[in-house]
Amino acid sequence: MSPGRDAPLSVGEGVRMMFYALSPNESSFETLHEVPNYVAQAVPYFWAMILLEVTLCWYKGTRLPRVNDTVSSVSAGMLSQLAKLLTRSVELSAFIFVHDRYRVASLPWDSPLTWGVTFLGVDLGYYWFHRLAHEVNVMWAAHQVHHSSEYYNLSTALRQSVVQPYTSWVFYLPMALFIPPPIFIVHIQLNLLYQFWIHTEMISSLGPLEHVLNTPSHHRVHHGRNPYCIDKNYGGTLIIWDRLFGTFQWESEKVVYGLTHNINTFNPWVVQYVHFRHIWRTLWTTPGWCHRLWVVIKGPGWAPGKPRLGCLEDIPKITGGEAPYDPAHPGWVQAYVVAHYALGFGAYEKLMAGGEAATQAEVLALLTSILLALSSYSFIMDKRPYAAPAEAARCALQLACHLLQLVELGLAAQVVFASSMVIWSLRSLRVI
Ligand SMILES: [Zn+2]
Ligand SMILES: [Zn+2]
Repeated sequence: MSPGRDAPLSVGEGVRMMFYALSPNESSFETLHEVPNYVAQAVPYFWAMILLEVTLCWYKGTRLPRVNDTVSSVSAGMLSQLAKLLTRSVELSAFIFVHDRYRVASLPWDSPLTWGVTFLGVDLGYYWFHRLAHEVNVMWAAHQVHHSSEYYNLSTALRQSVVQPYTSWVFYLPMALFIPPPIFIVHIQLNLLYQFWIHTEMISSLGPLEHVLNTPSHHRVHHGRNPYCIDKNYGGTLIIWDRLFGTFQWESEKVVYGLTHNINTFNPWVVQYVHFRHIWRTLWTTPGWCHRLWVVIKGPGWAPGKPRLGCLEDIPKITGGEAPYDPAHPGWVQAYVVAHYALGFGAYEKLMAGGEAATQAEVLALLTSILLALSSYSFIMDKRPYAAPAEAARCALQLACHLLQLVELGLAAQVVFASSMVIWSLRSLRVI
């Protein structure tokens, strides 16, 4: 059993946590304080597995993950985690509230039976949350973030919505009537982490396991925009729920990934709010208040006179010639974005790890520098006309924050930011 949330897991435990393979004995806790922050501890495993996938792609000669798409996905993941700094876990807070006030029983925290019931309950709750996230337009507005990549690789798993936790918590509440919160919070994390490794094209089939588990093949179908893939395979860890409730689909013809109408931008803010804006605009062009209510509650493909989930015939046909949105950049621009991303990731880690110890000014400076950086990288990758002056200004601001002692930059980082500021200033003036 792990000794507490601040103690790092062993590598063996860390690897097994990524595949939901921790035993009940080592992942059952009496108090919330003891529960490890598995998601935070998973970051090095995310990077290691992404590197392994890139190496395998290169070895097999298949399509390598694109820098622009990967940066966009990781940015969405960072934004969703940063938002949790403000509100903590909505799912956990609601669960504890109901458990404290309305529980009818509390199953023993150290029983493998409690662990097993919670595993099944969380996965069933996830199935229904996920299904409604595709079938209810306002929930889809949050969830579409995860589907907005036209690629399918491990980084796609990190592409998460900022507001989705506000729509998912209610599906787990029935369990709060009898499951101890520490066991729930273990499984909500392990269920999420399990879904990381299935975002890959490197694994074709897992044989008999395909009948029981959610696998890369099943989840590829879920991410497809081919008509046969729409509204299929909602399972988290197990695929049995889809088989039970009639939403299961085997992988057959080649899957084309992404939204039926792609958004063609890497801007992390647009990725998050674009469908909310679409709903808002549709509301005011739809006649009648009843129809307007249905715009929010029925499926994203619904329109007056159509079935609740819309018509498959309305979805753009797959021709086989679909090309992902991928503005061309010279190699040095891609290397620049990767290098600055790696440089800035320390600020993110510091913010996530040491929020309590840092001063308010330091937290604000770190948060601002991260948000500006993520925005600026997307301007570069989207080839916006203002990308060069925006990046020059960002680098200047970063140096100013260092001079004002709001953030700490090493000598090497100072040199990188100063030279980057010069390069992008010259580029704004079209000198280079
Ligand atoms: Zn989905
Ligand atoms: Zn997914």
